[in-house]
Amino acid sequence: MYRLLLILALLLLLYFLLRRAFREFKHRHLDDRGVSGDPDQMVQDPVCHTFVPRKTAFVETVGGQTYCFCSRACAAAFQQQLSR
Ligand SMILES: [Zn+2]
Repeated sequence: MYRLLLILALLLLLYFLLRRAFREFKHRHLDDRGVSGDPDQMVQDPVCHTFVPRKTAFVETVGGQTYCFCSRACAAAFQQQLSR
């Protein structure tokens, strides 16, 4: 039982590390493209429908589309919805 928990924890850790590496890669990609727009422009979070300023939004590219989220949690929820 303990071994199962350990494996689960390791998998979770690996998952987060991979996610972070992937996210950094995507952010660099976005920077290269020079995502334009007013940083104070309000963008809507597709998950909780909250409006957030672009400069503080959590930007994720999913399937070639760029989405802005209010938080990391919403971005994660959105990706989960898509992969379901
Ligand atoms: Zn949100």
